[in-house]
Amino acid sequence: MYKTDRKLLVDELKTKGIIDINVLKAIGEVKREKFIPEAIKHYAYKDVALPIGFGQTISQPYTVAFMTELLSLKEKSKVLEIGTGSGYQAALLFDMGMEVYSIERNFDIFSETLKLFDQLRIRVKCKCGDGTLGWKDKAPFDGIIVTAGSPSIPNELKNQLSINGKLVIPVGDKDTQILKVITKEEDDLFLEENYPQFKFVPLIGRDGWKEA
Ligand code: SAM
Repeated sequence: MYKTDRKLLVDELKTKGIIDINVLKAIGEVKREKFIPEAIKHYAYKDVALPIGFGQTISQPYTVAFMTELLSLKEKSKVLEIGTGSGYQAALLFDMGMEVYSIERNFDIFSETLKLFDQLRIRVKCKCGDGTLGWKDKAPFDGIIVTAGSPSIPNELKNQLSINGKLVIPVGDKDTQILKVITKEEDDLFLEENYPQFKFVPLIGRDGWKEA
């Protein structure tokens, strides 16, 4: 089921500029409908963000693909995701053969997604907590991907990158953000690239937005 829709989504993402064949292959393999509430599954292969409950969303496939492409990671890379949400982004990284760590702050979302990972045999190491602090015990990471919008770049996340590692993070106000790619060239030397214009739910935590 949905195989044709997945293929059509891959074609659509190609026309929108996604070129990384490993990313496109994963989009063609991971069943997005599994990460979406039953009542709206028929929207699974539309290129749109969808509600997953608790005021949160599963990101738009184009955004997920673009951020994954920006990470520039290969099989066996060690990657940290901040904002597990539905689990779709983590499932793609896992499908691409990476060692995946993921942090979610909302306990209800965390518990649901943990169950789903178990059912689907998706082996992602998960933790419930404030992702703006990173996951120090497991650092360094070849890539860190933040799937919620932050007012600034949390220093801890930069610190937890390996040399040549990349942090992909939306930074801006609560309405729109610029996707920033921070590459750690040396211990205190970071290169920054910017890609406007995105819209994410807020990253809430010590080094993100304060809870409303
Ligand atoms: N990656 C997700 C997916 O594939 O469905 C999309 C995540 S949703 C756009 C953003 C998630 O970030 C929400 O589930 C939210 O609870 C979580 N979040 C917000 N602030 C966080 C923080 N400081 N640490 C960890 N998770 C956070």
